[in-house]
Amino acid sequence: MSSRRVVLNFPPHLIDQPITYHLIRDYDLKVNILRARITPNEWGQMVVDINGNGENLERGLAYLAETGVVVQPLDREVRWLEDRCIQCSACVAHCPTQALTVDRATMAVAFHRDRCIACELCLNVCAYQAMEMSF
Ligand code: SF4
Ligand code: SF4
Repeated sequence: MSSRRVVLNFPPHLIDQPITYHLIRDYDLKVNILRARITPNEWGQMVVDINGNGENLERGLAYLAETGVVVQPLDREVRWLEDRCIQCSACVAHCPTQALTVDRATMAVAFHRDRCIACELCLNVCAYQAMEMSF
C-alpha cells in the first residue's frame, strides 16, 4: 500500500468533472479530501491523501497529469514547538482538520501531525510563535 499527500490544482474547465470519482473507480484508489476550494470559472484546489497499490497510484497520478490537473507534493510541514506553547487553546477552534485538539478534562493541547494539511491558519492565531512552518 502506498500513500501520497498532494495538492491538486484544477483549471476552470475541469472543476465540474468527476476526477476523484475516476481515481476511485478506474484505479482502485482511496481519496481522502482534506481541504477543497472550488469557485466557478476559477482554478480550484484540493488537498488530498491518495492511498492504494503503488502501481495504481502512479497510474492515477499519470491520469491526473494527462487530464490537465496540476499535481504538487504537499512538502511544507507545520511544527508545534511544545516548549513555547502555553496551552491557551486559541488555535484549536481554527484548525480545520482537528490536528490541534484540547482535552476538555485536563485542558491539555495536543498536535496530531498526521492530520495537519499545512493550511497555516494556526500560525496567525498563535501569539507565542508555538506553531512554525518548515520547508
Ligand atoms: S495558540 Fe499557540 S500557545 Fe495557544 S495552544 Fe495553540 S500553539 Fe499553544
Ligand atoms: S496548519 Fe495548523 S490549523 Fe492548519 S491543519 Fe495544521 S495544525 Fe491545523
